[in-house]
Amino acid sequence: MLIDRFGRLITYLRISVTDRCNMRCVYCMPAEGIPLQSHENILRYEEIVQIVRLAAEHGIREVRLTGGEPLVRLDLPILVHMIAQIPGIEDISLTTNGLLLEKVAQSLAEAGLKRVNISLDTLDSAKFERITRGGSLEKVLRGIEAAERVGLAPIKLNVVAMRGVNDDELIEMAKLTLQRPWHVRFIEMMPIQNQDSWGNGFPPPEEAYISVHEMRQLLFPLNLQPVNEKVGNGPAREYRIPGAKGIVGFISPIGEHFCQSCNRLRLTADGHLRPCLLSDLEIPVLQALRAGEDILPLLERAILIKPEGHELALNHSPMSRCMRQIGG
Ligand code: SAM
Ligand code: SF4
Repeated sequence: MLIDRFGRLITYLRISVTDRCNMRCVYCMPAEGIPLQSHENILRYEEIVQIVRLAAEHGIREVRLTGGEPLVRLDLPILVHMIAQIPGIEDISLTTNGLLLEKVAQSLAEAGLKRVNISLDTLDSAKFERITRGGSLEKVLRGIEAAERVGLAPIKLNVVAMRGVNDDELIEMAKLTLQRPWHVRFIEMMPIQNQDSWGNGFPPPEEAYISVHEMRQLLFPLNLQPVNEKVGNGPAREYRIPGAKGIVGFISPIGEHFCQSCNRLRLTADGHLRPCLLSDLEIPVLQALRAGEDILPLLERAILIKPEGHELALNHSPMSRCMRQIGG
């Protein structure tokens, strides 16, 4: 069992399969000048599987694939299939921007993927193109439909709420849950290497943050009711618009953070175990793995150094990597 110094049982591994992305969301990375890891520094599928197998032997039950954009990595369904065969792994999910999802949804589901989270910050195509610096809303919507068709459920849509960007759309986005059994989750924007100007037409980044408290106020007209049944073990606080098929969630890494119940460990694409998204503490495993060394002590060390909580509220934010490098 992987239990940290604060008694938290670690059962969930988030794996970043690549630091590359086919979009450039303003709050996630700069428009250009992004250093990328060379291919030989990126974990191969066999290496990821080796780490997951060891982690599963010690209590990891749930795996999420993320990135960068996980679907830009060739043959992702092969990795999903390999992980699905590992004894102990009960749940495999994916976080994606959805741009490439339409074509690959079926093979992902056949390979053993259970669920998918798709990032969707606006329902306006022109705005979508601006926020993502070139992404196509239509393609993402087709990806969402495809995921639903092949039974990747529940579909969760991640919305990073930003003042002066999409705060005028939160009600409309929440209303997507009226007719569809989707989870629309509003997320506080974290200040992770995104505080330089986002370009013309965007507010200064430091003004864009909206707390979940304020989001709930903006959604007051929808009469959201707390949901009692716990769907999933994630950090979202869940509500329902009366009579709606889906769920409205709020994820508050800053205002109402969920560190106390954090059950997560992360693996970066370049082979570092990272016990907290928001702390720069990491344990490198790639070289040891390639040298044929026993990596169990490294896994145990990663659990041992997991911090009690983050200090975003004190303006301490991670410096070493941005979101696409950590794996959001
Ligand atoms: N490319 C995939 C995607 O966009 O879903 C997976 C990686 S992305 C880093 C994972 C999630 O992190 C996305 O839902 C994205 O909106 C979110 N994210 C990125 N930067 C963020 C930030 N600064 N604050 C809060 N969420 C952020
Ligand atoms: Fe790419 Fe996801 Fe970051 Fe957007 S949020 S730039 S899609 S990694």
